[in-house]
Amino acid sequence: MSCSGKRCGFNIQVTKEAAGCSEGDGSCFEARVLTAERSNFHDEELMDATAKIRQILAGIGRDPKGRKLSFINTNMGLLLAWVEHGAPVPPDAVTDKDDDTTIAQALRLSGYAKVQGETAS
Ligand SMILES: [Zn+2]
Repeated sequence: MSCSGKRCGFNIQVTKEAAGCSEGDGSCFEARVLTAERSNFHDEELMDATAKIRQILAGIGRDPKGRKLSFINTNMGLLLAWVEHGAPVPPDAVTDKDDDTTIAQALRLSGYAKVQGETAS
């Protein structure tokens, strides 16, 4: 299964703490924030914020394991993660098809793990 790094689908192996992705519908994509000319929906403040975000992302080093810096897209928001694109989906992996609580736990999202009585970090 090929994986372009664009509109992928994440899969999380909880026991291995591994994030992979395969072909999907956009629940995972490379961490790239676009610039644009000023418009009604992209004003100076957003242009400025975009520049800062891009600077931060550009300052992140490469992953020694070759994984791509990616955004994992959930109903709760985006999580920055090192994702192995093109990895086959393990049968026990948590994916976009799981419910939010399961996904929040698999990603260890702060404030969401508490739902199940675990301590959020
Ligand atoms: Zn991918």
